[in-house]
Formats: sequence, C-alpha cells, structure tokens
Amino acid sequence: MAEYILARGNGRHIPQEDKIFGISNRAKAAIAKYGKDAVVNGTIGSLLDDDGELVVLKSVDEVFKHLSPKDYAEYAPIGGIKPFRDSVKKAAFGNHVPDGYIEAVATPGGTGSLRNVISNYSDGGDKVLTSDWHWAPYNTIAAEIGRSIDTFCFFTEEGKFNVESFREKTLELIAAQESLVIILNTPAHNPTGYSLSLEDWDDVIEVLGEAAKAGKAIALVVDVAYIDFAGDEDEYRCFMPKLASLPENVISIVAYSLSKTFTLYGTRCGAMICVAKTQEIADEFKRVCEFSSRGSWSNSAKVAQVILSRIYGDPHLLDEINKERAVFREMLLKRGKAFEEEAARVGLEILPFDAGFFVSIPCDNPDEVSKKLEAENVFLVPLVKGVRVSVASLPESVCRKLPAMIKKYI
Ligand code: PLP
Repeated sequence: MAEYILARGNGRHIPQEDKIFGISNRAKAAIAKYGKDAVVNGTIGSLLDDDGELVVLKSVDEVFKHLSPKDYAEYAPIGGIKPFRDSVKKAAFGNHVPDGYIEAVATPGGTGSLRNVISNYSDGGDKVLTSDWHWAPYNTIAAEIGRSIDTFCFFTEEGKFNVESFREKTLELIAAQESLVIILNTPAHNPTGYSLSLEDWDDVIEVLGEAAKAGKAIALVVDVAYIDFAGDEDEYRCFMPKLASLPENVISIVAYSLSKTFTLYGTRCGAMICVAKTQEIADEFKRVCEFSSRGSWSNSAKVAQVILSRIYGDPHLLDEINKERAVFREMLLKRGKAFEEEAARVGLEILPFDAGFFVSIPCDNPDEVSKKLEAENVFLVPLVKGVRVSVASLPESVCRKLPAMIKKYI
C-alpha cells in the first residue's frame, strides 16, 4: 500500500503514530488500570514533582495571574516585543555575555529557533550535523524543510567527548556543501545528560576554526533547552564567551527556551540569539529569521514574552524565581545521581551523565528491552541505540529502583 493517500510525502517518512506519544498513552492506560503506584512512567519530558504533578514555578504563575488582556490578546511584533528581546539576552547569557554583535528574535520555543536556523543557514538538500545521540525531533524539523540530519559519534570508548569524530564529520560536510549547520545540545543534553566541559568547548572552537578556513558559511546552534537544570547557573554559562573567538564566517546561535527554565512549556516561547562578528551579519540574521517566522508561524505568542519582561524588570522577582527553581533543580539532580549511583552498583552501563532530565542506557535491542519492561509496567523510550529514562518524571526512590529492573533485560 502506498504510504500516503492524498498527502505528498516530499521525501519524509511519517509514521502512523509518534513513538513517544504512543508509549506515553500506554503508560497512562496502565495507570488508569493498575493505579499510579504500580506503574513507572519514565517517558515524560517535563519536570514532575514526587507526586507525579507538573512542576510550575509559583512566582511565574503569580505573574501570569496578574496579566491584563492586552498582555496576551494583542499580536506581538514578528521578532518579539522589545523588552522581551532585551530580557531574553540576559536570561540566556547571564554574567557571560560574549563579545560580538548580539540580536534576539522571538520564536515559538527552542523548536522554532531550530527550524529558523536550518531554513536560513543551510541549503535545500543539505545535511545538518549533530551527535549520534540526539533529540529525535531534529530529524523531523530538518525533514520538514527538505534537509536531513547527519551525525558524529558523541563519545569515545572512554566516555569522553569525541572531538576526532566531530572534526571528521565537520570537515567532510563542509567540503561537500556550501554551508553547514551544526547543532550541539549542551549542557544537560537530551537524551544522555552530558554537558560539554570547557576543554570540550576549546576543541569545538578549534575544529570550527579549521573548518572555517574553506571560507564557507557555518552556523553553530547551541541548544540550551536545559541550561538552568544542569547546575549552578553561572558555572554552566562559562563557555559562552568562547563563542566570540569564532571566525567571521561562523555565526553562533543560541536556541533558548522558556519551556523548562520558566516552566512555561505550553506558552511556546523561546528565542534565537546570535553572536556575530559584524553588525551586518547580525542585521542579516534578524532580517532573515523574521522573514522565516512570518512565513511559518507569523508572530510568536505574546504572553510569555510579557512574563519574561516583567521578571527581568523586577530584580526581587527574578531572585525569587531563581531561588524557587534552585529547589526543584536540586530535586532533579538528586534523582539523576541516585540513578547513576545505583546503575554503577548493579553494573548497568549508562552513557556519560552530568545532569538534566534524562539518562540513557546503550543497548543492542532497545525496542525489545522496552517491550519487556512494559510487560512489568515500566515505560521508557526506546531510541536507535538504547533506551531513555526521564528522571525528571520519577521520584528519587524509583530512580534508585530502576537500574536493577533495566539490567535484567540488557
Ligand atoms: N531541544 C531539546 C534537546 C529538547 O529536548 C527540547 C524539548 O524537549 C527542545 C529543544 C525544545 O523545546 P521547546 O520547543 O518546548 O522550547
């Protein structure tokens, strides 16, 4: 049977059911049948408290409740309201603003930023480079606009960042194409929890310097979706000034998201923020990205733009939010460490983990492993080369129990 009836495939393979949503629905059905305590739902990509309820920062919720209709009903300008554009740069860079020309364009979440970078900094048919372990929607976003994803090996056998594989693939693709988009998701990478160290960053900068010698256009996207759940906000931003040392034909673009950091997942708010070597390159960035926004979602929702602007306009409120988030981050970090410790104790191999929402276990037969675990009411996400556990959605006690349960089937 043909894959499509009336629809056009345009080179895309569109499955009948989104894999993660499918598993998540089965987990929900199991909870309805057997009760919450009998089921482990490790599929969810949002931070839940120990009772399984979505964590929403109270101080953010308070701002929301005091909005006026104009704050949410009115259209925002295509690139975002001015106070938001200013605030989001502060939110992304903190005390570590790179030297260079910086412009911000509002987008619907980090997802919108990724889409706009790919559409403006690669040619149709190009390959976009990221690590072999990556967030699956990168493939969807690229395929939607006629590009595809190619990968380098993220880790060496010793569990270090594999700079040689990164070098090899970067040089190979820049030789074959007129431009190259590279996506690095750090810190607290989805799905492994890895964070590039400052030394890893020096290596990345060195490779990009080498690749840039061909004189072609390179866009480095730093997907920081989980940055404020990695650890100390300041420490995890120390790499940012390094972006300023890239040559003129390499533009860095931070894909920033309010989903996790401000628990505003559903408001669809984020920004793409460039660090460019010249004013002309930064102006071009703003012009082309706003054009793409107009032709895809038009303007982004105003509501979270106003919320962020209020937060950054009130130092006391910002401080309160940072403190509130720190408590939940501590809870999340403890869960991750509990899983890591227990995995080491029972001899379950996990990928190099630092922090964040997810831990991944490499294995040869992820679908089979996850099916067997489902039979025990344990729901995880099978990936191409392993299974992903969302420690963000499970209490610490369950994170401690899980490694032994998974180990049985690996
Ligand atoms: N990047 C990664 C690695 C993610 O996991 C996510 C969300 O899960 C995003 C980007 C984008 O999220 P949003 O579009 O909600 O900002």
